[in-house]
Amino acid sequence: MRTIETLKSTHNLPDAELLELLETADEALIRQLKAAALEVKLAVKGEEVLRRGLIEWSNVCRNDCLYCGIRRSRQGVARYTLSREQILSCCERIHAAGIGTFVLQGGENPAGALELVPIVRTMRERWPSTAITLSLGELPFETYALLKEAGANRFLLRHETANPEHYRQLHPAPMRLESRLECLHELRRLGFEVGMGMMVGSPGQSRQHLLEDIRLMQSFGPEMIGIGPFIPQADTPFEHHPAGSAETTLRLLAIMRLILPQANIPSTTALAVLTGSKQAGLEAGANVVMPVFTPETEKIKYDLYKGKYHV
Ligand code: SAH
Repeated sequence: MRTIETLKSTHNLPDAELLELLETADEALIRQLKAAALEVKLAVKGEEVLRRGLIEWSNVCRNDCLYCGIRRSRQGVARYTLSREQILSCCERIHAAGIGTFVLQGGENPAGALELVPIVRTMRERWPSTAITLSLGELPFETYALLKEAGANRFLLRHETANPEHYRQLHPAPMRLESRLECLHELRRLGFEVGMGMMVGSPGQSRQHLLEDIRLMQSFGPEMIGIGPFIPQADTPFEHHPAGSAETTLRLLAIMRLILPQANIPSTTALAVLTGSKQAGLEAGANVVMPVFTPETEKIKYDLYKGKYHV
């Protein structure tokens, strides 16, 4: 079918055809989309599934994102922040597992993030050839610069939705899409490899919004793309909203693989919660998995969405 050939060879399609790929019930077309994404992944990224060791550093967060299980105002969350020793021992285990990337992720906590600077420096000294990825939300630009200077290489900051109005439906003031995008540009300017992405099926999201997400990522050209379905969490404002579609998530992974063939794209945990494994994502163009190395006692407290720590 010509649509997929065009997407594969030009890394682009008109809006109407992208929307068609998101909506169609034509199974042959979708099989072809996923097969093309798998073929391009194997050609560009090779056979190897890249592993990133995830350390869920802290669930302390100043934000109140309506979907998130570690939002500031959610009651009953036992808040924790890993100590320097705990972080370094996670790094030991990740390194011993033969994994070449540490990922430190956590709630948005500017004071805490500053305390990570010397820890990142130690990680860089002890494991000179291991990549260090951070996912710590929106921070003062000076903090980003200090973390970069200490030895961090990459930063994941999902834009969550490319539509400013939809962004406001998911994030109470003072959060703004514009400041998120400014952070992404600053991270790139500082020399980080940058990751962006969004949830699929978050409350209020339309097909048109997903198209805007595709266009935003296409124009920014991130090195990494994180896409997972929205999954409701108890005791959050969105607890009664339905989860996003795993199938739409897979189509988006495939589309993004064809638009940005070089990107590193994880098969996300949220997707695995819905499909039962990481496999479907890997077959639709994802090339990365992020096994969790957070200490068992804290892991259950990094409770972003229902079912997360059972995968
Ligand atoms: N504080 C950091 C890391 C956030 S947690 C930051 O602001 O970037 C990592 C990701 O989990 C978020 O970007 C969000 O897309 C995802 N997430 C949070 N709650 C979720 C939910 N209920 N369902 C699915 N994904 C969720």
